[in-house]
Amino acid sequence: SPNTQYWVEKRAQHVRGGFPAFPVAVESAKGHIITDVDGKDYIDFISQFAVMNFGYSHPNITKAAVDQIYKMPLSGTAHISPLYAQFAERITKKFGFDSIVTMLSGSEAVESAVKIARKWAYTKKNIPENEAWILTTDQCYHGLTLATMPLATVVAKNFGQHVPKVGPFTPTGDKLIQYGDIDILAETFKQDGHRIAAFLVEAVQGWAGLVYGGVDSFYPSTRFPPKGYLKAVQDLCKEHNILLIFDEVQAGYGRTGKDLSYQHAEGVQPDMVTLGKAVTGDRERADLEPGFYPMSVVMGKSHVMDVVQKSEILSTFGACPVACAVALAALDVLEEEKISERTHRLGLLLEKTLKELNPPHVIELRGGGLFYSLVIDESTAGVTARRAAALTTLRGVLVGCGFNRLRFSPPLTITEEDLVKAIRVISQALRDIEY
Ligand code: PMP
Repeated sequence: SPNTQYWVEKRAQHVRGGFPAFPVAVESAKGHIITDVDGKDYIDFISQFAVMNFGYSHPNITKAAVDQIYKMPLSGTAHISPLYAQFAERITKKFGFDSIVTMLSGSEAVESAVKIARKWAYTKKNIPENEAWILTTDQCYHGLTLATMPLATVVAKNFGQHVPKVGPFTPTGDKLIQYGDIDILAETFKQDGHRIAAFLVEAVQGWAGLVYGGVDSFYPSTRFPPKGYLKAVQDLCKEHNILLIFDEVQAGYGRTGKDLSYQHAEGVQPDMVTLGKAVTGDRERADLEPGFYPMSVVMGKSHVMDVVQKSEILSTFGACPVACAVALAALDVLEEEKISERTHRLGLLLEKTLKELNPPHVIELRGGGLFYSLVIDESTAGVTARRAAALTTLRGVLVGCGFNRLRFSPPLTITEEDLVKAIRVISQALRDIEY
């Protein structure tokens, strides 16, 4: 049967776009182990970029999906799906919100939040149509659709002329809001607050630096905000009547050691939250493109969400009962298996093991929970994050990699034993790559 090389070449021939993933053609996966078409096993330290938080084919989640497929596969839009209403009630109560809208991808959730915020700004703040600004920070990532791409710095670099202008620079002055810098935000709100509908920020940045475009700009990925930042942001937003939106698409659902990453900060409750990825993070088969029955969510307070009218936000495949069944089962797993506490504990183990092994060429270890980046000093001949990642792949550990960083985001259900084993492989690879 065709081997990995065969599929690597086929893909290169016929597929455009996507992320330059490592050449591993996947056959199946279970828990935190991926098996390729050649029968080789890997410890997955990527989780399809923080989707498979509960591992591949978690028995309860997979069962919920399969049972629902037989019962009623699609009814989210044309009829009322009891599972949808049930999920909406459960997730809003859990996190202290009033209502949700759902789409399929993380980008669409963010787009929907942008739509809601702009409509809110028009009706509640008298900002003229099409003039409401969505302020974001440097090094953010919110997706690559027409309305989300221009929110990220990458657009300014690479794609600026092809997308509408809604960010990431300040409306006047064209400044970039540095993530973690409260003074520049205060200054901007003072000057431009009347034009700003919302401040959209990843409470913990996932792709920070990976999208900026180049080794010339050194930004470690996975950034936690400075202490007190999110609370100060909330206070400023209240003062200027600006909505606060947290994008938890990647950092949510236990990844950082809290159910949602903004919960690390005390007394913070945004107006809207976007969720995706791990909400339905389970599949029977993995093929390096996330999402089997995907569902993304915007949840928010009624003073914002109630501006949405019928038919303004939906998708044919949205709120599919299979996705809802999976989302409910995923919430059960999150709660019953105390995933966030477990992740916090395993994160400490990850950090301790790395410090003990003390691999060479490491400038910095950043992150928390099971959401870490290792910043590599690439000044020694042969030493690059990419080569290190290629070597760990050969040795059976799949890590994320971008510019001079290795990224770790394993399934949160990974065993302690395999977590430590993977860190050993990574550390040894960093020792072995020098020319
Ligand atoms: N927001 C954040 C914070 C993300 O990390 C991502 C995806 N990496 C997105 C939005 C976009 O999600 P999707 O790829 O599902 O459209």
